[in-house]
Amino acid sequence: MAWLRPDEPDEAGRRRFRVLTPGTGEDTGQLVCANADDVHAAMARARAAQALWADVTVPERVRLMSAALQCIVDHAEDYVAELRRDTHRVELETLFIELFAAADAMNFYGRRAAKILAPHRTGLHLLRTKRAQIHHRPMGVVAVISPWNGPFILSINPTIQAVLAGNAVVIKPSEVTPWSGALAARIFTEAGFPKDLVQVVQGDGATGAALIAAEPDKVCFTGSVKTGRKIGAACGERLIPCTLELGGKDAMIVCADADLDRAAGGAVFGGVMNAGQYCSGTERIYVVREVADAFIAKVVDKVEALTPDVDYGPMIFEPQCDIIQRHLDDAVERGATLHCGGTVDNGYVRPAVLTGVTHDMALMTEETFGPILPIMVVDSEDEAIAIANDSAYGLGANVWSRDKGKAQRIASMLEVGAVSINDAALAYGALEVPFGGRKASGVGKVNGAEGLRNFTFAQPVLTERIGPKQEWIWYPYTDDKVDGLKKALKWMWGTPLRWFL
Ligand code: NAD
Repeated sequence: MAWLRPDEPDEAGRRRFRVLTPGTGEDTGQLVCANADDVHAAMARARAAQALWADVTVPERVRLMSAALQCIVDHAEDYVAELRRDTHRVELETLFIELFAAADAMNFYGRRAAKILAPHRTGLHLLRTKRAQIHHRPMGVVAVISPWNGPFILSINPTIQAVLAGNAVVIKPSEVTPWSGALAARIFTEAGFPKDLVQVVQGDGATGAALIAAEPDKVCFTGSVKTGRKIGAACGERLIPCTLELGGKDAMIVCADADLDRAAGGAVFGGVMNAGQYCSGTERIYVVREVADAFIAKVVDKVEALTPDVDYGPMIFEPQCDIIQRHLDDAVERGATLHCGGTVDNGYVRPAVLTGVTHDMALMTEETFGPILPIMVVDSEDEAIAIANDSAYGLGANVWSRDKGKAQRIASMLEVGAVSINDAALAYGALEVPFGGRKASGVGKVNGAEGLRNFTFAQPVLTERIGPKQEWIWYPYTDDKVDGLKKALKWMWGTPLRWFL
């Protein structure tokens, strides 16, 4: 089943595709890719809308956000149906991954925006005749470029934060799931936000590149490492700040003292949720030898009980099936044992458990992005930590042990953005905490107070408390001032006075 079928370009040369629902092949409409002129026009409209929006008070922004939240509450059923046209993901996951998370973000940031974005004063340790106030000013127009695996939440969550912080947003959804991005923008219009404050430009990678060439004030990208590198380079050339939320290869470490029932349940949820298409999903499991047999048996039992269209949907981007198949074939050819699943049928990948995998297999090193649980038996927790860290990626990891102190120590040794203990990856859903990867998994943080403020630039404004006619350091420069500075250097930092500075 195809996912996008090329159509003839229009008279202005815009690329066009028919968009098909994965798993069913239903034709959901024609995608017309915005060209550079379309993108520039959207950017100009966004700039005009933002100039007015910047003056709207935070409480008024929050009032509109609460209307947007009410749209989700009132129309959840319709929205689920609309989102499933793009993904054919099961209803529970669509509610949980997309709408629940969006409603939570609207309410969470709405309730806290005034406090997080409020200007705050700070005393100055040296310039005691001055005072400073730090303001969080909007950046301007934010480009949100999103992927297909969480097409609604990964479009709307950065948009919620950017808009509350006083920016306009242009969303470029994945060409694979365009209608989810369109819905994300439509909710803002339906809630009464100003026209053109949140817009969508539809299209493929070329449209995304055109959006960066149109010079937004910030780029918030979520997607693959390969595209992330291109976007980082394009932003670097133009000195546009960007966050890059990229792929992962999250490791799960199961210690001998883990609650094995819970760990097995967490392994299956972490690996199969969203049919494995989760950037911080469990992609490889290391279990210590003492408990390996018992753990593997429990995981296999749980995976065998999963049913298509009840527990998991098809791959949203059908070509992903080829990557999964390649990783499975490579592992099995090189001696891994496939305990269950692994078949690919009409875009559905039956969840699989493999053992006998080794660290040099593609399945253990490259992002698989499917419902596959490769389990490697290790002799010790130290071995697990060393192998987990020997990865190009560094998004997340999870550790399973009844000894909380030990689990914390292991967490501190893992070279990843976030660690969950005795649970599958939680960080993206915990809005208080910053989320972002290390190594090839990304640059910058989203979410949390830090993430919200990252949609602003901090502008300190310094003013005088006492205003003499002339500052001592101003011209003219004299020998007396040189002597004075030399003495001050010794006195201020060469004596116990330094403890008061
Ligand atoms: P992708 O990189 O192929 O595409 C992402 C977006 O970038 C799409 O909208 C695409 O049209 C656009 N794009 C492609 N080329 C571009 C270019 N040159 N300039 C500008 N835009 C361009 O990613 P995908 O396949 O849609 O998404 C899956 C990947 O996303 C996985 O690797 C997954 O791990 C990652 N991901 C990461 C996170 C995170 O928060 N770290 C979250 C979800 C997904």
